[in-house]
Amino acid sequence: MSTAYFFFHGRLNDFLERDKRGQIVSVDFQGEQSVKHLAESLGAPHPEIGEVRVNGRIEALNFITQDGDSVDLFPIPNGFDSEPRFLLDCHLGRLTAHLRALGFDCLYENDFDDPDMAEIVAAEGRILLTRDRRLLMRKKVEHGYCLRSLDSMGQLKECILRFDLARRIRPFHRCLKCNHPLEPVEKEKVLHLLEPLTKKYYDEFHQCPACGQVYWKGSHYVRMKQAAEELRGG
Ligand SMILES: [Zn+2]
Repeated sequence: MSTAYFFFHGRLNDFLERDKRGQIVSVDFQGEQSVKHLAESLGAPHPEIGEVRVNGRIEALNFITQDGDSVDLFPIPNGFDSEPRFLLDCHLGRLTAHLRALGFDCLYENDFDDPDMAEIVAAEGRILLTRDRRLLMRKKVEHGYCLRSLDSMGQLKECILRFDLARRIRPFHRCLKCNHPLEPVEKEKVLHLLEPLTKKYYDEFHQCPACGQVYWKGSHYVRMKQAAEELRGG
């Protein structure tokens, strides 16, 4: 039997049992075990882990842990190198709508199962958003984030912070229903699709070329924009 000593930094503590947060956690193990495997056995999914230090030296997550090793794990830093594209699990319909309203590419289907989702994020280089840490622990998932909040606005704020989305917000860029990019459309062309009050108060419209849905700067837009501005300020 070997023992290693793990210390989780920052928001990685969210994954530990309460009495293990902010302190050294000893892990007993047998045979060859990677840091990744032991960290996940304690609850932290690998896509959340950034820098790994073993006895003070930077190592890879698949480093084979030795008896007596002291392991420091840091959360992956906020931000994302390229334009982030997401896949959301089937419980996140509201968050999907919020993110699409801000212009982000979000794949979302009710009938994807866990292996499907892991397969798609690997093949398309998408970021998996979920509250299910077991799903994030699947080997094929490289980029992912475990949402802590239960409510969709809290989840949106987490995503904006984690992936540094504030500077990439593009309202009226994407269809809330089908994720297709929108195009501006003249009011006259969609007049027959509008409610009387919308006709009266709004002049700028966008339409989805795929499903025909018409968009204007109504209350959902205002809420999303406020949330984004609060975060920019903070
Ligand atoms: Zn559409």
